[in-house]
Amino acid sequence: MMAELQSSKPCDDKLAFDTKEAAEGAATYAKFKHGTKLGVYKCGHCSLWHLTSV
Ligand SMILES: [Zn+2]
Repeated sequence: MMAELQSSKPCDDKLAFDTKEAAEGAATYAKFKHGTKLGVYKCGHCSLWHLTSV
């Protein structure tokens, strides 16, 4: 049942963060580590925060 719930979300394969701060922290880390500029957004499917390319 858990698996069914999780797989029902289109964002299932994305990293998810509980807070905006956590997502921004990960985005900052990715920028330093990989030089990748990422933005954050609150997901309408899971109500968590994801990273997105900008
Ligand atoms: Zn989501």
